[in-house]
Amino acid sequence: MRAVTFQAPHEVRVEDRPAPELESRTDAVVSIEATGICGSDLHIYHGRVKIEPGFTIGHEFVGTVVAAGDGVTRVKPGDRVLGCYHTACGTCFFCLRGAYHKCDRMRVFGHGALLGSLQGTQADQALVPMADMTLRRVPDEVSNDAALFAGDVMGTGYHAVVESGVKPGDSVAVLGLGPVGLCAVQVALAAGAGPVFAIDTVEQRLEVAHRLGARAVHLTEQSPREEIRKATSERGVDIAVDAVGHPDALDTAIRLTRKAGTVSAIGVYAEPCQVHMGLVWIKALTVRSGHANVIGHVDRVLGMIAAGSLDPTPLVTHHMALDDAPEAYRVYDRREALKIVLTP
Ligand SMILES: [Zn+2]
Ligand SMILES: [Zn+2]
Repeated sequence: MRAVTFQAPHEVRVEDRPAPELESRTDAVVSIEATGICGSDLHIYHGRVKIEPGFTIGHEFVGTVVAAGDGVTRVKPGDRVLGCYHTACGTCFFCLRGAYHKCDRMRVFGHGALLGSLQGTQADQALVPMADMTLRRVPDEVSNDAALFAGDVMGTGYHAVVESGVKPGDSVAVLGLGPVGLCAVQVALAAGAGPVFAIDTVEQRLEVAHRLGARAVHLTEQSPREEIRKATSERGVDIAVDAVGHPDALDTAIRLTRKAGTVSAIGVYAEPCQVHMGLVWIKALTVRSGHANVIGHVDRVLGMIAAGSLDPTPLVTHHMALDDAPEAYRVYDRREALKIVLTP
């Protein structure tokens, strides 16, 4: 079968790999029908996240189950399913407390030995461990493009907003309008938040946020601080989401949030980063961080997509063939796409 493999920074290749086989009774094998390229894949592409050359990448997928071990009870061959970007055991200390994203036996697709040596999903087929936890059947009315988001990007937007304790009527600011930021904007609006400020420098992304119903604010051509002060009686927003993963974005989020508000750092941090703790302390801010508990949220997110209250499909800007993955990564690296869906 074909698989997209990391070779070196700025080099991926489509290579031939043996088709996966069941290794445990809780495994399934999925024939991939759609697989996304994610911002996390770009960290690997750039060499910022280090994995072994030749490892298959990708972690967003929708497809059909072609084999399942006898310990798998919730999906069966022939089912159209979506996958979460990581696996969880369901029985460890953390899983029993619902923190599936911190599972002691968690493995992330397509991230090399760093995160559990689980081959990625940008391929014709993928081996899915703990299939009952990792996979969900996709309702007929949900397209592959939409379902793809439930197991990663929309689940992450949901986590960023909902885990911050949002209530109807709360004001929210989202910094960084990549796919995760735009999903956070949608979830905030669907949760009844308002106003929802969407902040970025890319005109096209601001335009998408505006069409979704957010107040789009250009980071440098406008003053997010002024816009937010005007709209919140000088207080600042109740919740600010850093969907960038950069110290400057985190600092801005801390400054835009009202006293006793919440900052949600959902962007990827891999290095030490200076935080103005004096400001966090004097404002009595709550700071939430970490990657998303997608398995904990996936059923609600999929339900909202099926009901039409969340619709990630406007974020899909490109469909490309799996064979064209090297070109797709170049396009994504140039920030010419929001979400590229590869089709085997
Ligand atoms: Zn991802
Ligand atoms: Zn676990």
